[in-house]
Amino acid sequence: MLENLTQRLSRVVKTIRGEARLTETNTQEMLREVRLALLEADVSLPVVRDFVAKVKEKALGEEVVGSLSPGQALVGVVHQELTALMGGDLGPEASELSLAMQPPAVILMAGLQGAGKTTTTGKLARWLSAGDHVQYGRKTGKKKVAVVSADVYRPAAIEQLKTVAVQVGVEWIASDASQKPEDIARSALDYAKRHHFDVLIVDTAGRLGIDEAMMQEIKMLHSVLNPIETLFVVDAMQGQDAVNTARAFGDALPLTGVVLTKLDGDARGGAALSVRHVTGKPLKFVGVSEKLDGLEPFHAERMAQRVLGMGDIVSLVEQAQKNIDVAEAQKLAAKMKSGDKFDLNDFRDQLAQVKKMGDMGSLLEKLPAQFAQAAGQLQSGQADKQLRRTEGILNSMTPQERAKPELLKASRKRRIATGAGVPVQEVNRMLNQFEQMQGMMKQMKKGGMAKMMRAMGG
Ligand code: GDP
Repeated sequence: MLENLTQRLSRVVKTIRGEARLTETNTQEMLREVRLALLEADVSLPVVRDFVAKVKEKALGEEVVGSLSPGQALVGVVHQELTALMGGDLGPEASELSLAMQPPAVILMAGLQGAGKTTTTGKLARWLSAGDHVQYGRKTGKKKVAVVSADVYRPAAIEQLKTVAVQVGVEWIASDASQKPEDIARSALDYAKRHHFDVLIVDTAGRLGIDEAMMQEIKMLHSVLNPIETLFVVDAMQGQDAVNTARAFGDALPLTGVVLTKLDGDARGGAALSVRHVTGKPLKFVGVSEKLDGLEPFHAERMAQRVLGMGDIVSLVEQAQKNIDVAEAQKLAAKMKSGDKFDLNDFRDQLAQVKKMGDMGSLLEKLPAQFAQAAGQLQSGQADKQLRRTEGILNSMTPQERAKPELLKASRKRRIATGAGVPVQEVNRMLNQFEQMQGMMKQMKKGGMAKMMRAMGG
């Protein structure tokens, strides 16, 4: 997702990191790189200008505090501004769906033909009926969802929605190409009311380009349905055109949010950054696959982190927190800090925690770019397998052996290897790694985190 932009910006970020001081000249240089990265990603020029100006203004006024280097401070400013640009300034609730209207809450889908309206209708229906919808930080529970198509121009469109509805297991309200779109809307709304649906999603006709008749029609649908959400669906691969389309739809309709589809493709992704700016509306979801589970709620801050190659640490922590024993983790962290007391028993506890965090592959994906690259050779299956083998070795030791690894001479190692079903070399390799880890912890104790990061080239 947004790979080119991510790569360019992480190069910039690296250069910035190397700088000892932030001067007018090197700030200019770095901002030029940021500007190029954004333009290359197809972010529209006025947006780029505005963005760079804001970053510059903030960066030059920024006090460099504590352990931050000036370069790090600039990265921080870029991150803040990217977050704001993508809607972070509206607050975290802005990207949530509002379904307060009683019942049914109507969601109107608007956008050009091929943008992904029908697919997104299905994805949303699935997501809402599965109970994944969150409002003000809380899940709102499973919704009873119906969908209807008001696309009377392509007969196949109505059938396509039916197929999707069956796949995700929501109610499809029949419509017919001989009906008027507004009549379809009225009767679907009536049906959804009588049958106590929580949500009615209305898929509409798109055209290949902006077209006056289409705009009139969707305005009419809007007035008939009085939707609580009017979502503009736009294809990320459209680049600059996405911006023009967004403007036209934004002028015609009181949009409440944007869904950016096909972010999994080779889209340059700049649209994600411009569309918000142009429509003034929050991005609410991104489409990340053709499949009907390929929909993600949009988080400006997390997206900014991904774009900067900083990894999606928040999602990572959320995933971890679900499973991990916080008190236990803190105890371990304290031990790690104290350095010399960390033995193989602690190592075993630590692995158990890591295992609880979940599938290694999906964790690795959310790590910052450098870490993920380092771990890149590890396919998720391999990482999990390696973890189990290491655990097997540790479990074949006695508690005394784990407390005092120096007891482990050749005969004991052979016994352990047999117990774990691995070659002796693997026991040796694990012990070497453990020694290196201990060494690193001692470094940490002596020189602090900064020294260790430098040693690691961070
Ligand atoms: P509509 O004309 O706006 O209703 O668009 P469709 O829902 O028919 O989607 C057009 C094409 O885009 C279909 O082939 C979809 O499978 C595909 N599509 C929609 N959303 C996504 C997405 O997020 N990722 C990918 N890769 N394909 C998508």
